[in-house]
This record gives sequence, structure tokens and C-alpha cells, in this order.
Amino acid sequence: MMQYRKQGLRYAGVKSMNIYEEVKDAGSIGIGGHIRPDGDCIGASMGLYLYLKKVCPQARVRVMLEEPPAVFSCISGLDEIQTDFASDVEKFDVFIALDTVKERMGEGEKYFCAAGKKINIDHHVSNTGCGDVNYIMPEASSTSELVYEVIGDKSLLDEEIAKALYIGIVHDTGVFRYSNTSPKTLRAAAELISYGFDFSRLIDETFYEKTYVQNQILGRALLESIIFMDGKCVVSMVDKKTMGFYRADSHDLDGIVNQLRLTKGVECAIFMYQTDVLKYKVSLRSNGKVDVAKVAMFFGGGGHVRAAGADMQGTFHDIVNNLSAQIDAQLKTEKKA
Ligand code: 5GP
Ligand code: MN
Repeated sequence: MMQYRKQGLRYAGVKSMNIYEEVKDAGSIGIGGHIRPDGDCIGASMGLYLYLKKVCPQARVRVMLEEPPAVFSCISGLDEIQTDFASDVEKFDVFIALDTVKERMGEGEKYFCAAGKKINIDHHVSNTGCGDVNYIMPEASSTSELVYEVIGDKSLLDEEIAKALYIGIVHDTGVFRYSNTSPKTLRAAAELISYGFDFSRLIDETFYEKTYVQNQILGRALLESIIFMDGKCVVSMVDKKTMGFYRADSHDLDGIVNQLRLTKGVECAIFMYQTDVLKYKVSLRSNGKVDVAKVAMFFGGGGHVRAAGADMQGTFHDIVNNLSAQIDAQLKTEKKA
């Protein structure tokens, strides 16, 4: 975090938060997250939604997200998510943006901006805080871990809230494997599983299980991957035609970049899929030597030190060249240091 402060990123935020204290007088509360919501975004949103519905019975609480992948239907209340965003924007007393900056909220951004009070809770190092009240903790494993923290009175947790938050933590830590897992994360997870849900089944069903198509496209992406920079980088790409052939959507590609990262000797893994003509969604993963948040931010994206992403334009080769220059520069500096 220090290095980001040095780079001039300004953090304006609170050091601790009790979400009930922030919203208790509100008559309407909106909750939103980033486009193409992942496990953490969905877990955090649903955990907070279920909690606020319980502790603020006088308020109308709504969660607004793009359609979540079907695997998350095990989370209570998932069918209550509002996925269609009306053109006449409703003004909420409070709107809480989770796991994102406002620019990545898609249609949700206008609801956030129109709200009487804007709250931003996130763990992305690239987020400087976009609310009136910001709780941004880059050290946290996940936004779900932060939602667990901001629920001040833990006696108000229940099995359904715990399940949602646990799924979020599991997803952003890769089942407690990634370096963002801290003793605090594990203590939160320990408390959460004490509610007695079948966590082992949830992990299999939401994280490890793949459809036949997902396995096929993973296999294809690995087969077509290219190793370069003396084995320090690996890249793979799936174009629109291939996605069409497998009838795959972007969620079917989750996990490919994490597998690429596990290639022996690799410092940085790049996966991209085509979104339009000369347009790609790029995912970056690092094994520690390269700060991929810095690389992604250079191209207008963001994320974490070891996992980040950006939308990029150009041919596949242009993009790989541009990314390589940034990665190489970091590896060279690292060598000298
Ligand atoms: P993924 O590669 O799994 O899509 O994303 C890795 C991490 O980077 C996630 O925490 C995600 O929220 C963040 N991220 C991915 N793409 C973008 C982007 O375009 N902008 C920002 N700010 N963050 C991104
Ligand atoms: Mn997250």
C-alpha cells in the first residue's frame, strides 16, 4: 500500500466501520457491485443484503447486480437480485458499492451517484474510494471478509448470511490458497463455518466443479498457450469465434488464468478473451515478483498486486507486446534491487 501512496494514489477512508450505524436512519438502501459479478462480489452483496433486511426492517433494501452465474443459487435470496436496471433512476437514501469503484458498476453507477449517501467497501489496492464514506482495506482477502467485519454485532449473523460471506471469501482466496489469506481471514472463516452449513459441498459446487464446456475450453486455452520471456510469462487467448463454438460466456473462462499461473517457472500469467473487434478483457496473475495491479492500472484497469485486469484494445500481438514491456520493466528493476 505504501508504494501506491508514493505513486500519488490518495486514500480517503475510515479505519473501521459499523454498517448498521451508517444506514440505520435510511428508508431505502441499495447494494451494488461490479459488472460480471464474481463469487466475492455476489457473496458480499448477498451477505450484506440478508443482514440489512434483518436489522433494518423499516427500510426497503435492494441488491442490484448483473445476472449471477447459476452455481450461486445455493445462496439464499439470490432470486431477489434486481438484474434489470430501469432507465428512470431511483434515488436511494443510501447506496453501498461493494468490491468495486463506481466506474466498474455498469448500470449500477447511476444509482450509486444519485444516492443521498454513498458508501464504498472494497479491498482493491487500485481503489482510492468513491463514496462519501469509504472503507477500503487492500490487506483484506475479500470484500466478503470486510462485510463480516462491518457487521459489528456478530450475534446478528445467521446461517444464510454466514454461507454467503463464506462463499465470497473462498472464491477470492482460491479456497484459502492465495497469499491474501491472513490469520484474520481464517478466523472469520472459522466463525462462519460454525453456523453448520455444508462448506465442503459449497466449495465443490461453486468453485471446483466445471461443466463439460468449461473443461473443454480450459483444455483448449492451455493447449494453445504460449510461453515467452525465457519462460517467465505465459499467455493464452480465446476469441469470439471459439466462445461461440463452445457456446461459452465470460464466466465459463473463470479459472483459466489461475491454471496458467501454476506453470512452473512462470512469474506472470496473462489470459485474455475477445469482447469485440480489436477489444479484449485481460486477466493478469503474478507469483509475487510482478505487481500486476500496477501493470493493469497503466492500461486503465486495476485489481490486486497478484491478480488484476483491464480492458485493452488492439490486436492480440499488440496487447501482448504492450503488457510485456511493463512486465519486463518490473522484472528488470526487481533484478537490480
Ligand atoms: P479477473 O482477472 O479475475 O477478472 O480480475 C482480477 C482482479 O482484478 C479482480 O479483483 C477484479 O475485480 C480486478 N479487475 C479485473 N478487471 C478490472 C478492470 O478492468 N478494472 C479494475 N479496476 N479492476 C479489474
Ligand atoms: Mn473481491
